[in-house]
Amino acid sequence: MSAYSSLFPIFQRHRALFGLVGTALFSSPLSAADWPPASWTETTPAFHIAGPIYYVGGRELAAYLIHDEGCDVLVNVGMEDNSALVQQSIYSLGFQPNDIDTILITQAHMDHAGGAENISQASGAVVAGGAADVELMQRGGLQDYVFGDDLPFTAVSNTKALNHGDEVQCGDHTLTTIATPGHTPGGSSWRLRFPVENDGKSVMKTALLAGSVSVLSDAQLIDNEHYPQVVSDFRSTYQRFEQEQFDYFLPDHLIFIDPRNGEAPKPAWFENQEALAKILQRSKKQLEKKLAEEAG
Ligand SMILES: [Zn+2]
Repeated sequence: MSAYSSLFPIFQRHRALFGLVGTALFSSPLSAADWPPASWTETTPAFHIAGPIYYVGGRELAAYLIHDEGCDVLVNVGMEDNSALVQQSIYSLGFQPNDIDTILITQAHMDHAGGAENISQASGAVVAGGAADVELMQRGGLQDYVFGDDLPFTAVSNTKALNHGDEVQCGDHTLTTIATPGHTPGGSSWRLRFPVENDGKSVMKTALLAGSVSVLSDAQLIDNEHYPQVVSDFRSTYQRFEQEQFDYFLPDHLIFIDPRNGEAPKPAWFENQEALAKILQRSKKQLEKKLAEEAG
């Protein structure tokens, strides 16, 4: 039995956990055996996506390695149970997990940041994210504006807060921080530009490492004393994402780009320019519906 099975009542209470309700994953009735969803710890072989970017995550919970000369940046880890999987994936590519300098976290929930402290301790990497998410990681997920103290994870000790526009350097590559709060108050995304060879010519490409914008069904949006600006944050995040132009879309959950034909994840999945628009449209609908419900 998983260490998380005792959390099942909480899982049932927060049926829209991590915004996946309405997807194939949770369309059937839930039972304790579904928690955590089997796909969350399912493995998949690591592979090169493009330029300096490699996929080192699981079958559902994404993790990306940005590798350049003398630098390794990990974007998201997964649950605590996933940290060994991610380290194994990095080894399998011929890289060293203990070379990781920085761990970027798109959202301080246990399915992305739960394994951050393990890898930070092993490698000495600093764990970075939006300021409010850094505080949430330092509290081990406690006092979350939606979950309260229900979904704790191992607190992160070596942290760095990043603001909108802050740059993270990795060798010749620059990751630019895009503040995308709402799902969590310090939610963040990163834009990465890199050259690829095409017919002997060097062409610049852009990857968007995107945080979630799901509106959790238990989120109180009006007069939330823990997060008063939650609604305006979601709206500014929509606007920021709508300005982004990119060649590669790298979400924190693979379900957003999974064609669900039973195939394992592969590089072509990430050359998806439509997924973000669909995700934004769904989030806007969720937001308006919740606001209407709360207004009575
Ligand atoms: Zn989340």
